[in-house]
Amino acid sequence: MIKEIVTDQFLLSRTAAKATNDDGQVASDLYDTLSYYYFEKGTCVGMAANMIGVNKAVIAFVDNEKIQIMYNPIIMKEEGKYATKESCLSHPREEAKDTFRYKKIKVSYLDENFKKKIKTYTGFTAQIIQHEMDHLEGVLI
Ligand SMILES: [Zn+2]
Repeated sequence: MIKEIVTDQFLLSRTAAKATNDDGQVASDLYDTLSYYYFEKGTCVGMAANMIGVNKAVIAFVDNEKIQIMYNPIIMKEEGKYATKESCLSHPREEAKDTFRYKKIKVSYLDENFKKKIKTYTGFTAQIIQHEMDHLEGVLI
């Protein structure tokens, strides 16, 4: 189900709890909501569960025109720090903000079937994942 985007700074600044096997509905809602904002509106490339009001460690992001889900992502390795600017659907009226990201990250996560995976991402996809993982820590750009 497409959910409303949370913009309340207090709600967005909480640290997400670990996701469990029971959070399939959260992932499904996140998938539907990001699908709408990416494919229909073209305004968003990634989303964390707290942006749809659920304080669990689930993220969704666009990779090769497909929406990927990660439960409990952890960055194991990062390389190539650089400065960039980002914006966020949860700050609709603000300008893009300065931040630092890594060009290459190795991420451990549980996939949509709750199977453990380890994958390396680079470039824009890596940037989106880092932005969404910041949301899970209550960090807003
Ligand atoms: Zn954001």
